[in-house]
Amino acid sequence: MAKLIITVAVTGSVPTKQQNPHLPITPDEIADTARRCRDAGASIIHVHARDQTGKPTLDPDVFAAIARAIRAQCPDLIIQISTGGRAGADPQMRAAAVRQLKPEMASLTTGSVNFPDRIYENSNEVIEFLARAQKESGTKPEMEIFDTGMIETAVALADKGLADRPLHFDFVLGLPGGTQPATPRQLLHLVESIPCDSTWTVAGIGRHQLPMGVLGILLGGHVRVGLEDNLYYAKGALASNATLVERIARIATELGREIASPNQAREILGLRRCA
Ligand code: ZN
Repeated sequence: MAKLIITVAVTGSVPTKQQNPHLPITPDEIADTARRCRDAGASIIHVHARDQTGKPTLDPDVFAAIARAIRAQCPDLIIQISTGGRAGADPQMRAAAVRQLKPEMASLTTGSVNFPDRIYENSNEVIEFLARAQKESGTKPEMEIFDTGMIETAVALADKGLADRPLHFDFVLGLPGGTQPATPRQLLHLVESIPCDSTWTVAGIGRHQLPMGVLGILLGGHVRVGLEDNLYYAKGALASNATLVERIARIATELGREIASPNQAREILGLRRCA
């Protein structure tokens, strides 16, 4: 079994410091978190940006400041930029940080979802626009799969030459409006639905983060943890990003699954650039 790639999604667009004071918001806070998570076994950091007031922003200069701060503390960590639409719907702005920074990875959601508070809208036109921006920037997309049909849309991007094979998927389970419930059967169905040369990771939302992560380890996939998806270490006990990475790395080690370094993760994912 390949070594385990741990992605840490440290901030997201939705959580607030009021909900969890460990949430990193500023570039320096995100970089400090990145170092702790890198030390604990994370090889990819999934990055969202916030403005001075803590609100989500797509400003590429803020992403650039975050990337600089991360690189200063952990030069080898793989930076994965979010192109998610919660910070704004304009596709040009969603692609702006990818075009400016040309990160090794970026997220790409291949469909629309009814989130509890709003519609997360990704038309085929927007998806292809974002895919093209990533392809032209030499950025590997992580296909964010909120429902099974999104797999076919991702594969169609590869068929159209807008994404390179092998594809990499992130299965998001347990989010209201997305793939529900977060069960082994649902995860297995998703794993069996992707092209066999693909790689995949799993992001369980909220209390599903730990059981889905453990299943990901056992099934030979990879795991995403972090405060973007889950604010709690256990019921009533707040987590930090580092404690979530430490726990999943510890469990993987106990299960005999070795943890990938960032450069080993690059090899597994076929990333073009090596630090
Ligand atoms: Zn995200």
